[in-house]
Amino acid sequence: MLLTERFHSIQGEGKYIGIPMYFIRTNRCNLRCKWCDSTYTFSGGEEVPLSDLISDIKSISEDWICFTGGEPMLQREAIEFMEECTSIGKNVLLETGGSLNLAKVVQIKGTYIDMDIKTPSSGEQGSLYKENLTLLRENDYVKFVISDETDYNYALSFIKQWESKVEILLQPSWGTELKWLVEKVLEDKLNVRVLPQLHKILWGTRRGV
Ligand code: SF4
Repeated sequence: MLLTERFHSIQGEGKYIGIPMYFIRTNRCNLRCKWCDSTYTFSGGEEVPLSDLISDIKSISEDWICFTGGEPMLQREAIEFMEECTSIGKNVLLETGGSLNLAKVVQIKGTYIDMDIKTPSSGEQGSLYKENLTLLRENDYVKFVISDETDYNYALSFIKQWESKVEILLQPSWGTELKWLVEKVLEDKLNVRVLPQLHKILWGTRRGV
C-alpha cells in the first residue's frame, strides 16, 4: 500500500464527524480538484506491506479507520485492506472522490462510504462513476463541497432527484461562510445536512491532524 501518512485524529467532516479515528492517507489521485488540500499525495509516498499495516492497526485503540487519500480506491490492495480491517472488528470509513467503481466495497460489512460528488468549482464536475449512486447503503452518504452559488445550484438539482434515495451532506469549502450555506438550505427547505470541516476549525490547514 502506498501511503503518505498515518495519524490519530478526530473525523473532521461528514456524517461521522467527531469520532476518533486512525487515518490512513494513501498516495496518488486520479483527479485534480482546484481546491484540493491534499496535493502532497500526488507524488512520493512510502510503500508499506499490507501485513505491516494490519499489525499496526491491531495495536491501535480506535474502533474506526479513516481510509483516505488522495484516492484510496486506486490502491491495488484497497479491497483486501478493508476486508482485513473489518475482519478484526474495525469500522472503515472510506473517503473517495467517487470516480471509481465501489461495487466491491459495498459487499464488505463494516465499511462506510463518504463519496464526493464534485461540484463545478472543483474543475472535476462529471467525474462521478454514476452507478455508485445506486449502490450506496443506509449508512453511506454523498458529499458536495460548496464554494459558491453555482456549486449550490448544482447540488440543488441533484438533491431534487436523489434526496429520498441517498443521504446528502453539504459542506462549505474552506473560506466559504457556513452561515451563508445554512441560510440557503433553510430558505429552500432542503432535507440535507450541512456540516463544517471540524479538523480545519481546530487545526487550520496543518497536515497530520
Ligand atoms: S479527489 Fe480529493 S485528493 Fe483528489 S484532487 Fe480531489 S480533493 Fe484532492
